[in-house]
Amino acid sequence: MRKVLVVGGAGYIGSHTIKSLSKRSYDILVYDNLSTGHREAILYGRLVEGDLSERDKLKSVIEEFRPDAIIHFAGFIEVEESIKKPLLYYSNNTVNTINLIEVMLECGINKLIFSSTAAVYGNPEKTPVDENYPLNPINPYGQSKAFVEKMLQDISRSYDFNYVSLRYFNVAGADPDGEIGQKYRKATHLITRALKAAKGEIENLEIFGTDYNTPDGTCIRDYIHVSDLAEAHIDALEYLLEGNDSDVFNCGYGHGYSVKEVIETVKKVTGKDFKVVETARRAGDAPELVANNRHLLDTLKWKPCYDDLEFIIKTSWNWELNPKF
Ligand code: UDP
Repeated sequence: MRKVLVVGGAGYIGSHTIKSLSKRSYDILVYDNLSTGHREAILYGRLVEGDLSERDKLKSVIEEFRPDAIIHFAGFIEVEESIKKPLLYYSNNTVNTINLIEVMLECGINKLIFSSTAAVYGNPEKTPVDENYPLNPINPYGQSKAFVEKMLQDISRSYDFNYVSLRYFNVAGADPDGEIGQKYRKATHLITRALKAAKGEIENLEIFGTDYNTPDGTCIRDYIHVSDLAEAHIDALEYLLEGNDSDVFNCGYGHGYSVKEVIETVKKVTGKDFKVVETARRAGDAPELVANNRHLLDTLKWKPCYDDLEFIIKTSWNWELNPKF
C-alpha cells in the first residue's frame, strides 16, 4: 500500500483530498497543527498534531512513517490578511515550507505535491492564463507561494527531488455526500459570505468594486469544486509515483463568473434574497483570473465532474445548513 503524508490535512482542501486518497486505498498520515483545521475533518488515516516549525518532531514523524510522497496544504490563504501581516505569510507559507523540504531531503523523501495559487500570476494582462505566464504576484500571499515555487524549481535541479505545484484558482463547494466542508475562523470568501447573507448571519453583502474593466464591472474568478481539485492532487501524486518529472499545473475549469453572477446564483440556489451593497475595491484584487487548464487535462488526464456553479453552491449551501463539525 502506498503511503502519503498529508501536511495540513485537517483543513478544507486537505480533508477532501484525504477522502479521495482513501477511495484509492492509500495509507494516510496527517500532520497538522489544527490552527485552522479540524480533527473531525479527517475521515481516514491517523493524525499527528504538529507544526512545520517543529523540525525535530516533523523529522521523527517522517523517518518513522517513510511516506512515498508528501502533499503539503499547510498555509495561510487570505489576501487581505497577508497585506496587513506579510511576515506571518512569509514565515508560515515560505519559511515553514523550507523546513519541510530540508527534512524531506535529510530523510530521502523526494516527491512533493505543493498547494500553490493563481495569485502567483498577479494581474495577468489577458486570461485564461497558462502556466508559462510570468509570475508577478501583487500581494504577500501570492508572493509567499511564488517564492516556494522558485525554490522548488531550483531544488529539483540540484537534488534527486521531484514536485508538482498545483496553482489553485477559486476553490469552493463541499463534499457532495455532505460529510465534510469548509469551517473557517471568519468568512472572507465571496461564496461563503453570500451564503451567510442568505442565512441572515450577515446583514449586507458587499461587492468590492464595480468599476473594473469587465463586462459588469465586477471581478471575474474561475470557481473550482473542492472535490474535483482533490482528484487533481491524486492525479498529480500518481504522476510523480510513476516517475515523471517536476511540473506545474493550473487548477480551474477554464471559465469564470463575475461577483454579480455569483451573487445571483446564490440567491437562485438558496431561494433567499438579501441586501447587496456596492463598495470600494478591496486591496490586492486582480480584475480577472481564469485558468487555461489544458495542461492539467492533457498531461494529468484530470476528469472534472462538477463544473457547474449551481452545483458548487448547492453543496456549500447543504454544508452550511448541515455542518458535521
Ligand atoms: N468579494 C466581494 N465581496 C465579498 C467577498 C469577496 O465582492 O464579501 C469579491 C473579491 O473582491 C473578489 C472576488 O469576490 O473580486 C473573489 O474573492 P474571494 O475572497 O472569494 O477569493 P480571492 O479571489 O480573493 O481568492
